[in-house]
Amino acid sequence: MKMMRKTAVCLAAILLLTLGFGGCGISQEPETRTVFAMDTVITLTAYGKNAGSALDAAVQKLNDYDVLLDVDSGDIGAINENAGEFVGVSGEVYKLLSDCVEFSRQTDGAFDITVGRYVELWGFRSQTRVPSDEEIAEAEEFIGWEQIELADGKVKIPEGMQLDLGAVAKGFVAGKLKQLLTEYGVTSAILSLGGNVTTLGKKPDGTQFVVAIRDPNDADAYLDTVQVSDSAVVTSGSYMRWFEQDGVRYHHIIDPKTGKPADSGLVSVTVICTDDTAADAYATAFFVMGAEKTSEFLKSHPEMNAIMVKTSGEIIRIN
Ligand code: ADP
Ligand code: MG
Repeated sequence: MKMMRKTAVCLAAILLLTLGFGGCGISQEPETRTVFAMDTVITLTAYGKNAGSALDAAVQKLNDYDVLLDVDSGDIGAINENAGEFVGVSGEVYKLLSDCVEFSRQTDGAFDITVGRYVELWGFRSQTRVPSDEEIAEAEEFIGWEQIELADGKVKIPEGMQLDLGAVAKGFVAGKLKQLLTEYGVTSAILSLGGNVTTLGKKPDGTQFVVAIRDPNDADAYLDTVQVSDSAVVTSGSYMRWFEQDGVRYHHIIDPKTGKPADSGLVSVTVICTDDTAADAYATAFFVMGAEKTSEFLKSHPEMNAIMVKTSGEIIRIN
């Protein structure tokens, strides 16, 4: 991945602090690995006798996924480079893209991995800048999840379109790493990938993991904690990656319907559920949808909890 992206995001990456408190009892020292991948600081913590070897394997896998899901390399890069043609991809990527199409359908396009051209226009992959309305209008015809074709393990997007998995990649990978740790016999772990935290089982002392949700207005403070086991806690926020031009702030979550940074009155959305990929996708989608639409949506999704922070500072907790 490009260095500029990495540097830009590094500072904003750690929004969720995993807190060590919660219970006494058995004290079992965890194994930890910290790496920089997928544009963010990643800390993997696991308990138990296979923890060390499991985490080493996880770090290796993390690097493989970094390549696989990047816009310029691996399966996603191949789809983008060969836009207009069907491209064969791995089973995992095929499933992920199928899921992404479903997330788009469910959210009426608030989540849309075809926003690549918009992301490029706003320079979030290189040099940030405000594009003109004409540029946005020109890019519009190359946006639209309905145009992704999936058939027999192959994927095709129209010429000119660019997939960007930024809104779902970390969640997907978090889930895969959790699966890998399970294969190594690990039953207790907490993985933090920037705004994505996921937990496997409970802490060795039988208590739940405590995850702090950062205060969007203060990097050193948190505004809430949640207690979870076997669940993902994923936050999307306008404070994670942004730039300022002529006194106006522009952030990295794009409303696919306008081609501009979503302006739904939220500064952050946290989604808590057992499915890592879904948690990441929905956190981004809810940020675009705003508090009202999200509250309505969650009425029929009891499997998901959400914590939304409005620009006014009001906190809304659902489920
Ligand atoms: P982060 O990457 O900071 O964890 P998100 O999960 O919300 O935050 O993903 C934001 C990234 O996803 C953007 O940087 C961009 O690459 C891409 N993106 C932006 N808007 C959308 C959208 N509406 N749907 C899907 N992907 C998006
Ligand atoms: Mg996301």
